[in-house]
Amino acid sequence: MIVILDPQLGNDSPETATILEYLRAIPGVTPKVHCVTGAQQVLTEIYLVGDTSTLDRNAIESLSGVSRVVKVSRPYAVVGRHAGDSRSYGFNYNGVTFNQDNLNIFAGLCAVDTAKHVEQMMQAVAQAGLECTRMGAYKPRTNPYSFQGHGAECLPWVFELAGKYGIKVIAMEITHDTHIAEINQALEQSGHPTGVMLQIGTRNTQNFELLKACGRQNEHPILLKRGFGITLEESLNAAEYLASEGNRKVIFCLRGMKTNMGDPHRNLVDFSHVPVIKRMTHMPVCIDPSHSVGTRERAPDGLLDLFHATAQGIIVGANMVLIDFHPKPVSALVDGPQALTLDELGHYLKDINIAREAYLKRQHLAGQEK
Ligand code: PEP
Ligand code: MN
Repeated sequence: MIVILDPQLGNDSPETATILEYLRAIPGVTPKVHCVTGAQQVLTEIYLVGDTSTLDRNAIESLSGVSRVVKVSRPYAVVGRHAGDSRSYGFNYNGVTFNQDNLNIFAGLCAVDTAKHVEQMMQAVAQAGLECTRMGAYKPRTNPYSFQGHGAECLPWVFELAGKYGIKVIAMEITHDTHIAEINQALEQSGHPTGVMLQIGTRNTQNFELLKACGRQNEHPILLKRGFGITLEESLNAAEYLASEGNRKVIFCLRGMKTNMGDPHRNLVDFSHVPVIKRMTHMPVCIDPSHSVGTRERAPDGLLDLFHATAQGIIVGANMVLIDFHPKPVSALVDGPQALTLDELGHYLKDINIAREAYLKRQHLAGQEK
């Protein structure tokens, strides 16, 4: 059960203390306080952990300072959207808003290689009017002899360049909890010129200790990739690891499933799950067409499969796109064959706008037909 307090009550108000005292006195139930910083307000929610089957919901709802009581109907209590639960969450990070209604594009390098390429990429992003990018410093590679990313060494100049081009958020994968401290240190030393969204890759979706470490810090939002060989439910439970530790700034990313049934694509594109995740959880949903499609093949209609897959995610309401670009894909150290080139960025964004407008029209029509 989730006890939602009146928006104006902080977690240290006298009313909150009285409510907590009441809840703590219930045998077999442990109240856990969560503060949710939304786009408009800070909400305080109390999660009742334990056997809540005999609790009198009306009695709790009648306590002064309680706005509503929601019955938890999914195992992922915090990130889940429960029956009759119309709460809308979103968050703001470094001046950028993330929620289930808007759209942010993260075009960038799969892996940081040279300062020149990072600068060319960021310049193109800024010129296109975008404020976010992707930059991989820590790369989880299938083969131990493959390039593993520049790691902490590149962070100072990557962050500095981001500041130069007004990039507000960089999605950056981490593969170990020590990377969080390295990122924080580099941000501190460079004077926080940008923000970092911590990306947890598909190979680490169920790395529970990494999830807990990311969830314990509340500074950076987290982009959690769906596990490529586990069920959606299992990946949503992984997202709960982040939120249950206290960080609710979680975005869920679809990146395709590992099966030969998706051939000739690198993975089976799973973007029809965008609206499914939006109805099952409060998380904004990201699509990663690069790692789903994995090729630059073009259909006879003139459009790259990458453009088609992106449109498929956008037209069903995706809130974020993570996409590989590279100034010179043939020289990219990771995933060059799936990278779009900088002169394709303008076309890509125009194509996204067409699909986004179509989605908004579909949403409007659904509202009228209801
Ligand atoms: C990536 O985004 O660079 C990446 C490695 O993705 P995934 O974890 O989805 O394979
Ligand atoms: Mn990649």
